[in-house]
Amino acid sequence: MPVSDTLGRPLRNLRISVTDRCNLRCQYCMPEEEYVWLPREDILHFEEIGALVDVFAELGVEKLRLTGGEPLLRRGLPTLVRLLAAKPKIRDLAMTTNGVVLAEHARDLFDAGLHRVTVSLDTLRPERFKALTRRDSHAKVLDGIDATVGAGFKGLKLDTVVMRGINDDELVDLVEYGKRVGAEVRFIEYMDVGGATLWSMDRVVSRTAILEQLARRYGRIEPVIEESSAPADRFLLADGTVFGIISSTTAPFCRSCDRSRLTADGVWYLCLYAKEGMDLRGPLRRGASKEELKARIVPTWQQRRDRGAEERLAVANRTPLVQIGELRKDPHLEMHTRGG
Ligand code: SF4
Repeated sequence: MPVSDTLGRPLRNLRISVTDRCNLRCQYCMPEEEYVWLPREDILHFEEIGALVDVFAELGVEKLRLTGGEPLLRRGLPTLVRLLAAKPKIRDLAMTTNGVVLAEHARDLFDAGLHRVTVSLDTLRPERFKALTRRDSHAKVLDGIDATVGAGFKGLKLDTVVMRGINDDELVDLVEYGKRVGAEVRFIEYMDVGGATLWSMDRVVSRTAILEQLARRYGRIEPVIEESSAPADRFLLADGTVFGIISSTTAPFCRSCDRSRLTADGVWYLCLYAKEGMDLRGPLRRGASKEELKARIVPTWQQRRDRGAEERLAVANRTPLVQIGELRKDPHLEMHTRGG
């Protein structure tokens, strides 16, 4: 029973945060050292995640992405992957990771049925990585990327958040690195979402600027024409290399957004920018049936009007979406809780 929202967008894509913890402190996501974490007893068990996925799958969700925090900090993740990969309605199961401990887990995840991996990689320079993330783990991330190839993953993607004055001089180097390791690089415009307390418009490198910089080195760049609700617009270089740009800040794509997010403690958000979500853990733990859960989810999605990034575009003098005081009071406003 597929359901659509007020803009005709289907409920198709669910991002599942399996933990709000992270082992990096990236400037654009978790710039503070300390955070208010979700209570451990609230974190969904794997069986609970599986039960919610069954409900969502019957409503049209066919694509899942495991996120965090850093998903690989969740103990026993291959067990969850195995459970989700066995669901017949799920045709795509992916994970976004910072790669720090990926080398240790890549083989088990692949064997458990994970299909695709996206690794966040903002710089190829170890010192810069350290400054950006406040951790000295760059070599481990590169090992993790190599390990995905060794484990058998195909279609590796590398996500780079581009920030003016921080890593915008590495676009060509990253494209070249992607070619060497067989990965598609995707450049992401710096977003003003929750957690990005250091965000400013001056730091945003637009899609136009990214394309101009790459065209100076590679010449003609052609758009890849495809029907897709994926957030990245893809482009082709003359040598056949494909890369993507996710222009959430200057050219958002809310009109085709079929993504929603489930936090590690079972709160369902309809938009990355939404201030409130729906608690599904409570009803689930009180023994709600599938039909009762559907009765909550279906009308909520049918009434969905969210166009968070498009609405932000209309705001003059943009500052970070949420200030640090508000984030401390409600960790659900954080991008690392909501799954980015
Ligand atoms: S801002 Fe909200 S509606 Fe727009 S693409 Fe992101 S999650 Fe979807």
